[in-house]
Amino acid sequence: MRCSSCSRGSIIEIRMEIAGEELTFRRCGRCESQTWTTADGHVPLSHVLEIARAT
Ligand SMILES: [Zn+2]
Repeated sequence: MRCSSCSRGSIIEIRMEIAGEELTFRRCGRCESQTWTTADGHVPLSHVLEIARAT
């Protein structure tokens, strides 16, 4: 899987579950762009922190 930001880096994918919500964290090894997605699609980091805080 290639990075959508720099289109060169390879993506590291980590799946986890926070408060019953399944989250996927993707990070580019080259430009360090980071994205979070849930079943609903892309979510901002603030959303992830909100879930974590509510736990
Ligand atoms: Zn990248």
